[in-house]
Amino acid sequence: MSATPQYLLDAIEVFRNPELLGEGAPLIDLKAFSYDELKTLIVDGLGEKAFRAEQIHQWLYLHYVRSFDEMTNLSKGLRERLARVSRVSTVEHVGSHVSADGTTKYQFKLDDGAIIESVFLPFESHNSLCISSQVGCAMGCTFCYTAKMGLSRHLSVAEIVDQVVNVRRVAGESDEGVSNIVFMGMGEPLHNLDHVIRACAILTADKGLNFSRRKVTVSTSGLVPEIERFMAESNVQLAVSLNATTDVSRSKIMPINDRYDLEELMTCLRELPLERRQRITFEYVLLKDFNDSIDDAKRIVKLIHGIPSKINIIPFNPHPETPFDIPSEETVEAFQRYLIDHNVSCFRRKTKGREGMAACGQLGKPSEEKKTPRHLRKKLEVLREELG
Ligand code: SAH
Ligand code: SF4
Repeated sequence: MSATPQYLLDAIEVFRNPELLGEGAPLIDLKAFSYDELKTLIVDGLGEKAFRAEQIHQWLYLHYVRSFDEMTNLSKGLRERLARVSRVSTVEHVGSHVSADGTTKYQFKLDDGAIIESVFLPFESHNSLCISSQVGCAMGCTFCYTAKMGLSRHLSVAEIVDQVVNVRRVAGESDEGVSNIVFMGMGEPLHNLDHVIRACAILTADKGLNFSRRKVTVSTSGLVPEIERFMAESNVQLAVSLNATTDVSRSKIMPINDRYDLEELMTCLRELPLERRQRITFEYVLLKDFNDSIDDAKRIVKLIHGIPSKINIIPFNPHPETPFDIPSEETVEAFQRYLIDHNVSCFRRKTKGREGMAACGQLGKPSEEKKTPRHLRKKLEVLREELG
């Protein structure tokens, strides 16, 4: 058996001695723990029987309760002991916006007042929920709206899991059922690796949210060492934002390319131990006259050679003050056609939620007082000149 992780040992200590939780210190959020961890916490921390964990777990993940008071099959005494040191929910639903195509953007407020967004995307064959992993993002991609916020902080495990629980709760009866989870909201998930790995385990546990691990996908801009660790420690799917086909062009739009260039990224992906039939998804945001030529498509074929993969092309979603444009319909079609004709499995991501600023790369709210990070501002100026 693996050793008890430190975060669990710490929580057990607090459950045993509530006074360890200093004045004003945040309560322990029970959604940060797997079922087995919760059991350990209840048994070792409170000296209660293990079946209590089962009851609590059902309240959390089947009934989506927001307080211990709603857990009516627990004694009042136990509810009080629990409430002294812990809580059951972290994120507060503060607004939703439904677009004409059915895309729903949910806004959640966190303890510190920060707002994060999760987006429900209905498709013909399935429904995806796009969740956030950070408040803002540090990666500074020049085509992405979230980048302008810079990074405020990582989300906790509970804040990640609670987005899914709360969408289910808020959607209630009208919920057509979320079948897929994609970490494609705000943030770079692999920059918040420990929490994302734990959240994925809770999302896919049968005693958890019970999503199929084939239907949970984490998308990264290409943090090479983190990709390796993620694939070793998690069993959900990986998507990589490729977005350009030469180092010169990729570095212009994704600063991470200066740290891990295409050669390093592709070598890492080529060497990943994949399961039978497992494929890596590449995302490719098509930016008009920047990365949408047939020469780019040709280079994609070469770059991904030997990597079991598919490509999602995403026509650029515009946002205020961006130097980039949406490619024409003919360009998108020709690009996709070239790839398909060269045996690349290539899908076009249906544009959804654009008008409600709920589409890929449109999430977040860069504040007026907090300026766009300086390095990003400079890059944007250069691009604006180049692209005219
Ligand atoms: N940080 C991660 C996941 C969040 S971004 C990543 O970059 O992969 C999710 C996807 O949205 C990425 O593939 C990204 O390239 C894409 N994206 C960002 N801004 C976009 C925009 N304005 N239009 C279309 N796609 C965008
Ligand atoms: Fe961050 Fe992804 Fe946006 Fe790049 S595209 S800034 S990695 S959220």
